[in-house]
Amino acid sequence: MGENFEEKAVFFDIDDTLLDTSSFAELARHAAINNIVENGLPIEQDHAYDILKEIIKEKGSNYGKHFNVLTKRVIGAEDPYLIALGMTTYHNVKFSLLEPFPRTIAILIYLKKKGYQIGAITNGITIKQWEKLIRLNLHPFFDIVLTSEEVGYEKPHPAIFEEALRRMNCSADKSVMVGNKFETDIIGAINAGMAGILVNSELTYEQEQMIENEKLDVTVLHNISDVDTVL
Ligand SMILES: [Mg+2]
Repeated sequence: MGENFEEKAVFFDIDDTLLDTSSFAELARHAAINNIVENGLPIEQDHAYDILKEIIKEKGSNYGKHFNVLTKRVIGAEDPYLIALGMTTYHNVKFSLLEPFPRTIAILIYLKKKGYQIGAITNGITIKQWEKLIRLNLHPFFDIVLTSEEVGYEKPHPAIFEEALRRMNCSADKSVMVGNKFETDIIGAINAGMAGILVNSELTYEQEQMIENEKLDVTVLHNISDVDTVL
């Protein structure tokens, strides 16, 4: 293209990288189940929770009617009162607990001061992913937020990383991707020519061997609070 790309960028995955999405969701599901069982769903809480987990597995976590299916499976028909109770409890608990991992804001400020552009590359529904950043007050730090829904490809497909680089106007070799999933975030980024920082996850022996044999530019950190030790 003949352009001189000077910008350096750090891209972040959102779920389980910036915030502990999985734990918050699990606590919120338990609270929702407790509430609907206490208010009349005729089944043991543990059993109801297992059914809910099955439904989430079948329909995906972004499906909007988990509690409709749950009441239908348990009592043979949808129960509007219990569905609304479940949904409300789920959202209230989830959003009251939601917070970024420790030092996330300090790290974002640090990166800004060091001249990095900051982006998010996330698999998920655009509005939902923005909602998390806004509720956590992290959105002002992000120059771009790119979702799989927007691009039409999920990580690890290179198209989503390439589109992020294009929008940020920076080159892959000056960019690093921080994420918690080795195959999705890290190998995806590496295949797009970026470096990778794995957080909140441990490498398997095979993954360690792969990094060594193929000399991949991958750093493993305990969590996001350590990012300033390598950037
Ligand atoms: Mg993640």
